[in-house]
Amino acid sequence: MAKTTHIAIVSSPGFSHLVPIIEFTKRLVKLHPNFHVTCIVPSLGSTPESSKAYLKTLPSNIDSIFLPPISKENVPQGAYAGLLIQLTITLSLPSIYEALKSLSSKFPLTALVADTFAFPTLEFAKEFNALSYFYTPCSAMVLSLALHMSKLDEEVSGEYKDLTEPIKLQGCVPLLGVDLPAPTQNRSSEAYKSFLERAKAIATADGIIINTFLEMESGAIRALEEYENGKIRLYPVGPITQKGSRDEVDESGKCLSWLDKQPPCSVLYVSFGSGGTLSQNQINELASGLELSGQRFLWVLRAPSNSVNAAYLEAEKEDPLKFLPSGFLERTKEKGLVVPSWAPQVQVLSHNSVGGFLSHCGWNSTLESVQEGVPIITWPLFAEQRMNAVMLTDGLKVALRTKFNEDGIVEKEEIARVIKCLMEGEEGKGMRERMMNLKDFSANALKDGSSTQTLSQLARHWENSSQV
Ligand code: UDP
Repeated sequence: MAKTTHIAIVSSPGFSHLVPIIEFTKRLVKLHPNFHVTCIVPSLGSTPESSKAYLKTLPSNIDSIFLPPISKENVPQGAYAGLLIQLTITLSLPSIYEALKSLSSKFPLTALVADTFAFPTLEFAKEFNALSYFYTPCSAMVLSLALHMSKLDEEVSGEYKDLTEPIKLQGCVPLLGVDLPAPTQNRSSEAYKSFLERAKAIATADGIIINTFLEMESGAIRALEEYENGKIRLYPVGPITQKGSRDEVDESGKCLSWLDKQPPCSVLYVSFGSGGTLSQNQINELASGLELSGQRFLWVLRAPSNSVNAAYLEAEKEDPLKFLPSGFLERTKEKGLVVPSWAPQVQVLSHNSVGGFLSHCGWNSTLESVQEGVPIITWPLFAEQRMNAVMLTDGLKVALRTKFNEDGIVEKEEIARVIKCLMEGEEGKGMRERMMNLKDFSANALKDGSSTQTLSQLARHWENSSQV
C-alpha cells in the first residue's frame, strides 16, 4: 500500500474562506486517497451555524481541529471584515503552533497550506520540515495585483481612486484605481497596511494554489507563470466549489420547490454572498426595481445595515422580511420569492428555471455561476468584488454592470433596465452563450483537463517530498 502523505491546512474565519480550502482538500484526498489532511480551524466568537453544518460532512481522511475561538472583545468593534479575520489569525498563532507541534509529533508533515489571511503561519513550516503553500480563494487577476502591490505603493502618490490612467496588470483587463480592492482605497488605514503585508508574504511560499482555471484566466495565469523568471510556482486547480445535495441544504425545501414551478431560464437569483448587506434605502430601490422589471426573482434578503459586510462574521438577529416596502410581498407573490438570509445557492444556480444572477461577485459566487452557465448582473460591495466585476464585464463579457449614482445607490430604473437587458434582451442572450462556453471549459478543466492535471502534479511533488 502507498505510504500516507500528511498535509496540514490552516483556514481563516468566514464561510467563504473556510469552504474553498476544505473543498480543495476533499478533492485532493478523493483523487489521491493516500493523502491525509488535518484542517486547523480558527474562529472569531463562536463558529457560525453554516460552517458547523458544513464541517460535519468531511470524509474520514480529513480531520479537523477547532482552535479555541478568539473572543470578540479582543478585536475592535465594527472594524473591516478583512482586518478582523487577520487579527483573529494573529491572536490564534500560539494555538496554531501548538496544533502543528502536536501533529508533527505523530507523523511527518509534508506540507502546510494556509489560506491567504493565515499567511503568518507559513513561517512555522520550516520548523516542522514542511513545504509551505498559499491557498488563494481569489482570481489570478487579484493575485497578480497582490504581487504588484509593493511596486504600486512605491510609484503612486495619493489615493489609487484618483489615478487618471487605468492600471495594467499583465494578461488582465485594464483596471481603474476605484475598482481596486476595498482595503486599498484608504492608504492610511490599518486594512491597507495589512493588505500590503499579506501581498508581500505571498511570493515567499514554496507554491501558490489558486482557485481559478486556465481557460477562464489564461492571460493572467500565463503572465504569473512568467513572473520574475518563474519565481512563483502556481497551481490553478479550480473551480473548486461546494457541492451539497438537494436534501441536505434546503431544509424547508422552499426555494427549490418554488423554482420547480417556474418556466425554464425565467428567474433572476439575487444574492450578496454569505454576509453582504444593503442599506434600507437600497433595499427599497431594489424591491421597486425588481417589481418594475416584471421579471421573476428569488431574492435572499438580509436585514439592512449601513455597513456592506455587516453579516459576514455575525449571525443575523432580526427578521429581514419586515424591512421590505409595505405590500411588496403581496404585489409580487406571483412572480417572486424572498427568502430570509440564506438559500442553497449551488442548488439554486443549477436549477433550470434560473436564467440570471444578480450578484455581489464574491469569487465563490462567480465560480458557482460559471459552473452552471448563469450570466451575471454585477453589484460589487466590498473586498475584491469590483475587480471580479471588471473581469466578468470587460474581460469575459458574461455580465452586465449596474451603475451606482453619486450617493452610492443603484436606482430602481437602472435596476429594472439591467434586469430586463439580461433576462430578455439580445445582449443577455450573447452573455448566456458565452457563459455556457465557460461552463463547458470549467467542466473539462475538472474532468481530466488542466486543473486535474495540475493537482496531480502537485500531489506527486508532495509524495516525492514525503519520501526523502
Ligand atoms: N452562499 C449560500 N447561500 C447564501 C449565500 C451564500 O450558499 O444564501 C454561499 C455561496 O454559494 C458561496 C459563499 O456562500 O459559496 C459566498 O462566497 P462568496 O465568495 O461569493 O462571497 P462572500 O461570502 O465571501 O462575500
